[in-house]
Amino acid sequence: MTLIPTNILHLPVYSVITVKETDHDCNIYAEVAKQPYKCPHCTSEGFVGFGRRKQLIRDLQILGKRVGIYVDTRRFRCHGCKRTFYETLPEVDEKRLMTSRLVKWIGQQSVKRPFVHIAEEIGIDEKTVKNIFRDYVNEIEKTVRFETPQWMGIDEIHIIRPRCVISNIHNNTIVEILPNRDKKTVVRYLHDLDGRDDVRYVAMDMWNPYRDAVRATLPEVSIIIDKFHVLRMANEGLENARKSLREGLSPKQRRGLMHDRFVLLKREKDLKLEERIRFDVWTKNYPAIGEAYRLKEQFFGIYDAKSRSEALFRYNAWKHSIPAEVEEYFLPIITAWTNWNKEILAYFEHRVTNAFTESLNSLIRIMNRLGRGYSFEALRAKILFTEGIQKKVKPKFERQRRYTLPDDAFGMITQSSSTQSEGAEKNYGADISTLIRMIEAGEL
Ligand SMILES: [Zn+2]
Repeated sequence: MTLIPTNILHLPVYSVITVKETDHDCNIYAEVAKQPYKCPHCTSEGFVGFGRRKQLIRDLQILGKRVGIYVDTRRFRCHGCKRTFYETLPEVDEKRLMTSRLVKWIGQQSVKRPFVHIAEEIGIDEKTVKNIFRDYVNEIEKTVRFETPQWMGIDEIHIIRPRCVISNIHNNTIVEILPNRDKKTVVRYLHDLDGRDDVRYVAMDMWNPYRDAVRATLPEVSIIIDKFHVLRMANEGLENARKSLREGLSPKQRRGLMHDRFVLLKREKDLKLEERIRFDVWTKNYPAIGEAYRLKEQFFGIYDAKSRSEALFRYNAWKHSIPAEVEEYFLPIITAWTNWNKEILAYFEHRVTNAFTESLNSLIRIMNRLGRGYSFEALRAKILFTEGIQKKVKPKFERQRRYTLPDDAFGMITQSSSTQSEGAEKNYGADISTLIRMIEAGEL
């Protein structure tokens, strides 16, 4: 028998009657310290006891043990309206039969740890944790509003399966992750977006549902295909040519092409002398590889163009220079250009910053390190709402000319009353660099 302090719960609204401990659990028997003083139905103050019931209320762990509070709840019968009622349990979420502080704690923990761990720790089922998580995130979402990007990015990101990530290109932030990449999902998002008229440019993957969704909801904006997505296809054309050539070679010939992939994916200006010599041998023996390489390099050269018209001119010249023997490898890029030429060329008028493309790509690459055992909803909430992840910009300090008392100077000055004023703090969403750092450090 250990000596248990009567204030073990730190909830003075309850009187602790007795405490029983087992190896893992701490069972606390308690009752509400003060009786109700009026009937909840008719507010009459005359009522008598009408039995009791025992309710198990879950609470935070105490000294590493799961806590169950067995509350001996009193029932009363009212003299006024003859109806019966139970006393209410203060500090308790009666729907969940948990203390309010436990519900709050589970909410905070649920974006940091897998649901199943929390469920085990408290001695509840995972589904309950999931429900509390949903409510918690809904509450956060009501209080957080991310600035609508003027320059919006719509890309694919892999979280368990492909999802649609919406970003703010100028601020290097993520503002939303949609569960699907289909037109319907993106249309709904854009349609409901607060301040969607602020969007001026949308940069995206070459993915028809994205374009259809933007055209349907934001007909005025310019759609841009980032050069990264286009150049990647040039590399793929070269890669396919290389693989196909290798297939027809003997093992000995293949050995002669050691590290060819590494060398061929390099830009010509970056080749080291020794790589250059090997490259020259390959192209002498296999002219098709030399051609495919030249086409890749020349295609990259389109993006050195200073204007839209120059880019178009360079593309046409490139296309006409494709020899028949390697044409098949570059057909995908030609098809893409045909289908997306307006958006591809729009890049030359409105360029997406390299910094954004690079950071988003780094994030996409390391995304699979994030949370095994988490649901999509939990991962989305972690990315968007983890403490310290959001990029917030305070308004410039403005010297007050005259001090005036706020309306509620004698009451509580709530945060919302100050943030809704002119020049409020702006929240741009989850900062991609911070996100990458936290994922790499295993902090998310
Ligand atoms: Zn009554």
